[in-house]
Amino acid sequence: ERQEPGWPDTFLSLQEGHIWGSMRRTALILGSGLLLSVAFWNSVTWHLQKFWGASGYFWQAQWERLLSTFEGREWILFFIGAALVPVLFFWGFNGLLLVVDMTGRPNFIARYRIQQGKNEPVDSGKLRQAIHTVLFNQSFISLPMIVFLYPFFKWCGDPCRRELPTFHRFLLELALFTLTEEVLFYYSHRLLHHPAFYKKIHKKHHEWTAPIGVVSLYAHPIEHVASNMLPAMAGPLAMGSHLSSITVWFSLALIVTTISHCGYHLPFLPSPESHDYHHLKFNQCYGVLGVLDHLHGTDALFKQTKAYERHILLLGFTPLSKSIPDPQKME
Ligand SMILES: [Zn+2]
Ligand SMILES: [Zn+2]
Repeated sequence: ERQEPGWPDTFLSLQEGHIWGSMRRTALILGSGLLLSVAFWNSVTWHLQKFWGASGYFWQAQWERLLSTFEGREWILFFIGAALVPVLFFWGFNGLLLVVDMTGRPNFIARYRIQQGKNEPVDSGKLRQAIHTVLFNQSFISLPMIVFLYPFFKWCGDPCRRELPTFHRFLLELALFTLTEEVLFYYSHRLLHHPAFYKKIHKKHHEWTAPIGVVSLYAHPIEHVASNMLPAMAGPLAMGSHLSSITVWFSLALIVTTISHCGYHLPFLPSPESHDYHHLKFNQCYGVLGVLDHLHGTDALFKQTKAYERHILLLGFTPLSKSIPDPQKME
């Protein structure tokens, strides 16, 4: 005798259908994407290289001037490129965001706030403590770590070598750094959510259920090393990258993590919805790109939310909280 499935089974089979459907779609998208990439990669990089070729000599000359200025003291050059420049980008961008967080102005930025009613304005005591921790992490962990790792970088392929990478190589490295970071960040971050580590280490970062930009580096020292620094450094170390790639990558990584914490879904910038949701709900969306969350199903609840519908690149000026509003609360 065949029994009608109870609601949990119905739910599971619906889920399964959903996953198979989305996997087929993903495979189709990835497959055609891959084909297109292979077809166009050579022609695109050929054009870029041609463009680069013209300005390439210019950059090569600038680099050689820097090299001769710092001859015999290349570690200073490495320190500037791998630590100072990215940190300046971080504080430049976060300085602008902090103005909006503290004043709620200008309104044309503040109106893109994701969690409405939160941080309006941000608590100044909490903010001071966060900035203090970030400065501590940068001065006493990131900077010494970069100095300490310089010999390893040198051993893996001298980052201060004379020849700049080709544009082709540079793009390829950026793509591989992004993938390496996704894998290492996802698993180290998931591990930090394990009860054995959460309370002592990762809870600090999650004090902010509605994060702001600087919170991206607001973390316990162990987390800062294992989950922030190493996933970003592993790629350049493994590939023996040139300092120019390292500077661009570290700056980019700091800007992207700032965006994912900033609390505003701004036009023409990567969507921060998934990591904002992670801070709101704790057990969803551990990754950066979302690929591993999709594969491990750690975004199943997120996918049922309005936040997921808003998790797109905003290509207009209407805030997504207006165009895709939360359902009216029934009380
Ligand atoms: Zn976070
Ligand atoms: Zn977390």
